[in-house]
Amino acid sequence: MTTMFPMSEICANCGAVDTYQQLGSTNCFGWSDLDLRPAEMQRSTIGVVMHMCKECGYAWYDVSEAPKNKVMLAGIVSSLPRAKDLSDTYFNAGMIRLLADDDHESAFNCFLNAAWAADDAGDAAKAVKARCKALVQVHTLLKTDGENADLMLMAADIARRAGEFVIALEYIEKIEKCETDDIHRKLAAFERKLAGDEDDKCHNISEAPGIDE
Ligand SMILES: [Zn+2]
Repeated sequence: MTTMFPMSEICANCGAVDTYQQLGSTNCFGWSDLDLRPAEMQRSTIGVVMHMCKECGYAWYDVSEAPKNKVMLAGIVSSLPRAKDLSDTYFNAGMIRLLADDDHESAFNCFLNAAWAADDAGDAAKAVKARCKALVQVHTLLKTDGENADLMLMAADIARRAGEFVIALEYIEKIEKCETDDIHRKLAAFERKLAGDEDDKCHNISEAPGIDE
């Protein structure tokens, strides 16, 4: 089960003090989606772990934690449109990490969570926008980690879910050229089929043919 507890945090941007729910523990049973969104109950903790200061809009998992480069923080936070929902909050958190620290990995994770939150809210346009931002970050990450098959599979799935089927197929080709294991090859084949069918729906790893053999 998922457990939570309240804890006070001081905003690293404006100093406002507020109480935020913290995740004590959770569990995860079952296969992830193709973009590695976890199964329940961890899946539903998406709305618990990201926080936003009500005073200034600073968004991070722990609002008392500033980016490494704090000099521009106030300007960055005030330049972003105030988040109206959970997807916006993740999106802003990603933008803050990107603009302050050039932190592509954190930005990637935040944008992907923004897409998942938009999926949950049924906001397809917002989900596509967040996935396109996540894709730009993946592209940058793969420049220094070009043989990361997990990341390439995520990239292929994010592109497919954003309706960018040509980009999805390009990533799948790269995976097929890498020395990968049997699971990666099966997932790449499944992803190739979905992208070829121009299927932009959410699919689970368990659906990939032969994956649980
Ligand atoms: Zn604040």
